Amino acid sequence: MLLIYCLIFISGTVFSSFAVCHGWRFANSYSFSSRSFCEKCHVTLKNIHLIPILGFLIQGGRCFFCHSKISAVSFAIEFLGGCYFLCLFVLTADTANFIFISLLSLWSLILALQDFYSLTVSNFLLWFGGSLFLLEPSSEFRNFWGDLNLIFFFIITLSIFTYFNFLGLGDVIYLGFLFLILGFYTTLYIIMIGSSCAVIYQLVTNRRKIAFIPFLSFGLFLLLLWQKTFTC
Ligand SMILES: [Zn+2]
Repeated sequence: MLLIYCLIFISGTVFSSFAVCHGWRFANSYSFSSRSFCEKCHVTLKNIHLIPILGFLIQGGRCFFCHSKISAVSFAIEFLGGCYFLCLFVLTADTANFIFISLLSLWSLILALQDFYSLTVSNFLLWFGGSLFLLEPSSEFRNFWGDLNLIFFFIITLSIFTYFNFLGLGDVIYLGFLFLILGFYTTLYIIMIGSSCAVIYQLVTNRRKIAFIPFLSFGLFLLLLWQKTFTC
C-alpha cells in the first residue's frame, strides 16, 4: 500500500508540474511540445532537472547553467499537488470517483495557472474540458434538474458583472460548468471561499486587477477535500 501512496504522490507532483509548465507557456506563447528550458537563459534543462520537487532541490533553487533564481511557485505547487492528490486518494473509496475528481482538479489547476500568469484562459481547454466532465455520469446536473432555474439565474447575474468588468467571461463560463458538474449549492460554497480569499488577497496586495480562477480553484480543492472527509 505504501508503494501505491508513493506512486499517487509522485503522480500528483508530475500533474502539478505539468500544469505550471502549461500555464507559463500559454501565457508566454511558447510551444507545448518543446523541451523544458530555463526561463532566464533559455538553455534546455537536463532530464534530472525536470524531476518535480527534486529538480528544484538538486539545483538549490538556482538555474544550473546561469545561476539565476528559479521561482518557488513551481516547487510549492508540485509539493502541495502531491499532498493534495494523496489526500484525495486516501479519502476516496471509489477508484472511478477518484479519477473523476483528480481530472476535475487538474483541469481547474491548469486553468488557474493560465489565469494566474496571463489573466486569461484557453477557450479550448475551458469548453472542451468542461463539456467532457458533463458527459461523465458523476456530474450532478442530471440529479438536480430543479436547480437549473437557480443556476440559470445566477449565471445571468454573474454575466452582468462581466459587463462592468468585475468578472471575466472565462470566470463565468468556468463557474457555469462547476454549477452543472458539482451542483448549485456546492458551487455556491466554492464561490464564497474563492471570493473571500480574493478579497483578502486584493486588500493585502492592493492590486487593481487579479486572476479569479486561482481562488475559485482553491475553493474547489478545499471543498472536494472537505466533502471526501465527511462523506466517507
Ligand atoms: Zn538559466
